[in-house]
Amino acid sequence: MIGGPIPGEWLNGDPVRVILHWTAGTYEVSDLDRQHYHFLIDGAGKVHRGRYSLADNASCRDGRYAAHTRGMNTGSAGIAICGMGGATHPESVRGFNPGRWPFNQTQWQVAQACAAQVLAYADLPADARTCFSHWEAQALHGVRQRGKWDISVLPWDPGLDRGVVMAQLRGGVATLLGAEPTVLINGNLISHAALLEGGRVWLWIRPIAEWFDWHIEDVEPDQVRLLVGADPDAVGTRTGLPARIVDGRAWVPARELVPILSGLGWRLAWDQARNRLAITTRVSVPTLSSGE
Ligand SMILES: [Zn+2]
Repeated sequence: MIGGPIPGEWLNGDPVRVILHWTAGTYEVSDLDRQHYHFLIDGAGKVHRGRYSLADNASCRDGRYAAHTRGMNTGSAGIAICGMGGATHPESVRGFNPGRWPFNQTQWQVAQACAAQVLAYADLPADARTCFSHWEAQALHGVRQRGKWDISVLPWDPGLDRGVVMAQLRGGVATLLGAEPTVLINGNLISHAALLEGGRVWLWIRPIAEWFDWHIEDVEPDQVRLLVGADPDAVGTRTGLPARIVDGRAWVPARELVPILSGLGWRLAWDQARNRLAITTRVSVPTLSSGE
């Protein structure tokens, strides 16, 4: 899970890709806009919910879905930036004109944050298959869109090559996704077990405890009590860790685990460049012999 501008309870279903749009309207969210997109970003960068949920787009046969990209609505999350009503294309007779509601850099950033959030929720990377603009539905994927050019031009830098605009989009989203810290235990990735907040890394204790066969004895609003040990059959050590509960999950500061892990002869290393916390235990092979 990563935080983001979309309230968590608005995320449902199993989206397989995110497609970004502008509404070709004003900075406000209209009723028509709500029909067509799952999430809308108004002129101030605030996110609004469309009429249909992501789960509604699992199937488009019943007609109850957000229709935002011709021929590609099934499984697609539609995120739209409000604005660009009356805009004219760079190759039109009069050239590029963003109209009265040019979308702004705040909206562009929020759109990327929304895309990252949906992709993180769906466990998807940000690549050309999973994250693209309406314009690219045709330009990149060959699904005809009747001249749609959202989003291929940035109003504050209209001369920027369209390929670069799209690289900026996916690069921005990927960076946000990479900003989610991950936990690696002996080379195995544990999903959604870490979050970075206020410069501190917090760990969701349950999957980590389960990995090590540690027993969670008690969860209180501010503390987790654990029975930890290197060997599930041996008597462990009781320990209390400060915790906080978010979304019904108990999170503990990663640094609180350091003394426990080093006490077991294990190692915990923080790879800042990759936002990755690696826990390495000694290679333990069960042996029958208990002697030296
Ligand atoms: Zn569109």
